[in-house]
Amino acid sequence: MIDGLFDIRGKCAVISGASSGIGKEIASLFAACGCNVAILARRKERLNALADQLTRDYSVDIMPVVCDVTDEEALVTAVNEIVSHFGRIDILVNNAGTTAKSEDISTHTRQQWDNVMGTNLTSAYILSRECARVMKDQRYGKIINISSITGIMGLKNQVSYAASKGALNSMTKAMAVELGPYNITVNAIAPGYIYTELTNPQSAGCRYFNSRTVMGRIGLPEDLRGVALLLASDASRYMTGTVIPVDGGILANI
Ligand code: NDP
Repeated sequence: MIDGLFDIRGKCAVISGASSGIGKEIASLFAACGCNVAILARRKERLNALADQLTRDYSVDIMPVVCDVTDEEALVTAVNEIVSHFGRIDILVNNAGTTAKSEDISTHTRQQWDNVMGTNLTSAYILSRECARVMKDQRYGKIINISSITGIMGLKNQVSYAASKGALNSMTKAMAVELGPYNITVNAIAPGYIYTELTNPQSAGCRYFNSRTVMGRIGLPEDLRGVALLLASDASRYMTGTVIPVDGGILANI
């Protein structure tokens, strides 16, 4: 009865921001499950090292693609190259992200706003647009947006980050409605506070979130494995338009 439920062997995935943190974890998980993966980011050495390691460990086809996700032309070219290489795209994970801190909105600069929106939101729109064309022809696709609980709750000092993730949640629902008829599911994962290069365990933000988890610890990238595989596989075939918190209970603990 469970044969094949979580099976993504032989599928082809695209993951943005796969050179570190959550994106690297999901790329490693998919490769371990026998999925071929195109890994996108700016840091070439990291991508090449990850591609070598995953190819060696799991005998899958890993395609490193060096690009800046704020560059629309680079993203369009990347998707064309990936389709030429794999012949299809089954799974897209919009994961690349950044943040910008300021005391409050009165000092948040336009440059900070544009960079966060471009990296977290516009890149997801462009990659989804390009991949949706391929997925519609295939009549199959799984799009996973890496959002954040800050797209659901308020968070001070990071107004553009919170806005980008809130918009990503809305885009997830809108795309789910549009693409459902083509057998394409679109869902989002909203992590809580996860220990990566983006976060700082010594920070006030970390202490705040840690005090609100009910699990007694901040999260690790591997805590997202289960839900990532669920949303990438046919186990989630009747799930679309959802935003799933994986936050150690932060949102429940009001
Ligand atoms: P990391 O900093 O470890 O990873 C960010 C990834 O995004 C890197 O691979 C980086 O690659 C890539 N990236 C950033 N900017 C660009 C760009 N302009 N072009 C191409 N790639 C880019 O952080 P996380 O793993 O924590 O973040 C991954 C996602 O998870 C983000 O969307 C983040 O908002 C989200 N998230 C994280 C949480 C956390 O607590 N850590 C909580 C909730 C959500 P490179 O620098 O090589 O280009």
